Amino acid sequence: MSTSGSTILDSDLHGIAVSPGIAIGPAYMYARVSFNVERRILEPEVVEEEYERFERAIKRAERDLHKIIAVTREKLGEDSATIFEAQLLMLRDHSLYPEVQAYIKNHNVNAGYAVQTVMSKHRQMMEASDSEYLRERANDLLDIQERIIRHLRRARVLSAIDEKTIVIAESLTAADVILFSRRGVLGCATEFGGPTSHVSIMARALSLPALVSMKDVSNQVENGDIVILDGIKGELIVNPDAKTLKRYKTKQRRYLRLIQEDKSLVPLPAETLDGHHISLQANLELREEIEQLSEYGAEGVGLFRTEMLLLMEGRALVTEEEQFAQYKDVVEASSPGPTTFRILDLGGDKMLPMAHREHNPFLGWRGIRIMLDKLDLLVPQLRAILRASANGPTKILLPMVSALEEVREFKVVLAKTMAELSEEGIAYDPDVPVGIMVEVPSVAISADQFAAEVDFFSIGTNDLTQYVLAVDRGNDLVAHLYNEMHPAVLQLISMTTEAAKKAGISVSLCGELATNMRAVPVLLGLGVDTLSASPIYLPAIKRVIRAMKQSEGQALAQKALVASDAGEFRDMMDRWLEEHACGVSFFLEGAGLA
Ligand code: PEP
Ligand code: MG
Repeated sequence: MSTSGSTILDSDLHGIAVSPGIAIGPAYMYARVSFNVERRILEPEVVEEEYERFERAIKRAERDLHKIIAVTREKLGEDSATIFEAQLLMLRDHSLYPEVQAYIKNHNVNAGYAVQTVMSKHRQMMEASDSEYLRERANDLLDIQERIIRHLRRARVLSAIDEKTIVIAESLTAADVILFSRRGVLGCATEFGGPTSHVSIMARALSLPALVSMKDVSNQVENGDIVILDGIKGELIVNPDAKTLKRYKTKQRRYLRLIQEDKSLVPLPAETLDGHHISLQANLELREEIEQLSEYGAEGVGLFRTEMLLLMEGRALVTEEEQFAQYKDVVEASSPGPTTFRILDLGGDKMLPMAHREHNPFLGWRGIRIMLDKLDLLVPQLRAILRASANGPTKILLPMVSALEEVREFKVVLAKTMAELSEEGIAYDPDVPVGIMVEVPSVAISADQFAAEVDFFSIGTNDLTQYVLAVDRGNDLVAHLYNEMHPAVLQLISMTTEAAKKAGISVSLCGELATNMRAVPVLLGLGVDTLSASPIYLPAIKRVIRAMKQSEGQALAQKALVASDAGEFRDMMDRWLEEHACGVSFFLEGAGLA
């Protein structure tokens, strides 16, 4: 059902703004969730027709895949195309295709049901297999199963997504967002997901305005409806009237102007009024983003999420050479500033085909836990990072650390890898600093012990918040409980900075809290010395820093630590920002990050 008459605000849809910007254009309804096909019994005389329907769907799926292969080959190279080439072959696999036909005939059922039954059976066998290769292929099978069923239903498929549309979906994956942005879509809105889910992070990285947690959006919008996506305020307006459209076009221009104006701050130092310098660095996910370092004035890369390369490629393994080529470019672009490479943080919501199914993936096999178990992933990545370190200042960051043994075990692998490189006569920085993400409460609580073993801390508030508050960061049902400004989170940050100060190591904060203008003065007051965020936010953060004194931040931090709840903290900071007229109001409008 479409909503018309956009002047009635109640008819607009509200969600959480997770990637700033205003997008205006036609809606594209994207159905990714698996179809559950009903069983229909056919009259024997129409079975032949059903064969033909199946054959037509296969042909359409083949056409899709040819197109996808061509685009992938052109944009991402031959290697990335192989996954789709394999899918193409599976469509006419000699055991699958005839088995579906036989199922239609023997059971007198519709083609969709036959495809679903036969392919699910094969998939389950593959998932249960001991062979990692077969387990990986299980996901491909699901992909083609959905593609064929979509065609049987004549639904539109991803390859047909038009440029300049706004994608509306129940849920998306980080890989979907990458594909959309490459196809030139203007923005996306989903029913599920939270502000720090990796879909949101990816949307920000690709400057794609996005909303999540839009309850029921896929039932409220129809394909082709004109929508305004307000990625600042968290609103979706469906079929706006002329007056609303005009207002939003003005807002869009104002936003773009503000982003431009903020850029006047780029050459200025991130320094408080009393001369305290803060290093502002960038969170990057893809090599393509390196131009943003100078564009937004980043002093280095505070967090390079290396796993996004894998997600983009859709492969379980990217070779040492491929990684080295990427890392070297990033190190060179960031130099003389440092580049902090986080080793693969797989698991959680960053599932790969090779991953095992888990009931609680965020509490399961994730980050350093996977890497220490899978040296075939860790060692090539370490070699690539170390080789890149010969080209400029490089740091290594370990994700999801929860115990000291993990750090010690990692150091043994690092020393061995360094020794191998030395033997091979390959250059690297032997003093490359090793730090850990502080994102599991045990690490913040025992920060003194960890500080003695590592060169730096990087606080990951996205996970720290979910773990300390027991609130899944990607679950819209509990999104209202996910609050990075909770005093308990601040207490853990404070314990971390105290321990770092005592041990004389640096402490950075690279969670989305760094982009929350209300939190910036308090974080400085707590002694964080680097803030790392999506580059687009850096000028606004700098604006806040340049309007405050370090001593003021310390006083605010003392109050925030004893606030009764996040609301009290928020109100206090709203008053402060208003008094200090920081001009960051645009980033404060939203219901989500801002
Ligand atoms: C974090 O947890 O705060 C973080 C920066 O890492 P990620 O969002 O990739 O989990
Ligand atoms: Mg994390």
